[in-house]
Amino acid sequence: MPDIKPCPECGSAEQYAYKEEFDPIETMGGSLLPSLQKGIFSTAKYLPVVCADCGNMRFFAAEDARKRLIDSKDWHRVRKL
Ligand SMILES: [Zn+2]
Repeated sequence: MPDIKPCPECGSAEQYAYKEEFDPIETMGGSLLPSLQKGIFSTAKYLPVVCADCGNMRFFAAEDARKRLIDSKDWHRVRKL
């Protein structure tokens, strides 16, 4: 479970995380994190968090998916200009 901070949109502390990280193939039929899955027949898991006050939604990629970011050819690090 990541360290969930107050809502970046409205500042509310009423943040609700799903009970576990889930697989988008089982729930939505697709991947939100392409190229970061364990193998060909899986998708990268993530944890959804919803602000109960304003409805802002955030998604936190599972640790194993985050570890693949550095070596991925499909994802690039965003730097401030
Ligand atoms: Zn909010």
